[in-house]
Amino acid sequence: MLPNTIQVVAIPERCYRCGGVTRGIVGVLAPRSTGTVFREFDEVAESLANVLNPEVLRVGGIGPIKPRRSRTRGLYVSNGCVHCDAILGSFPLWERLNEVLSEGFQLHDFALSVRIGDPARQ
Ligand SMILES: [Zn+2]
Repeated sequence: MLPNTIQVVAIPERCYRCGGVTRGIVGVLAPRSTGTVFREFDEVAESLANVLNPEVLRVGGIGPIKPRRSRTRGLYVSNGCVHCDAILGSFPLWERLNEVLSEGFQLHDFALSVRIGDPARQ
């Protein structure tokens, strides 16, 4: 793995609002001496929001990670559509992940390395 990068697992999803294809982060593959361990988005969302630059994410087809309001959960750090910024709820993304895993895909199939750093300073 390159220095100053993090492996995010981001699955493609069709936005319910604009119909465009966007990607939502369902978790990260965190390095361990024994390999990598998957950590769910909700566990790491606030840390991700602090280190992932929206412009870097955009290149990967991923919307900004930031607080958005959902009808069911209120304000929380969430994924959004890269085109229109509609919230991509953690629960629907999680369901979508289980769907693609049941189709035979693996987490690594959706992993991509993104550069990290303080978004305010890039
Ligand atoms: Zn959209």
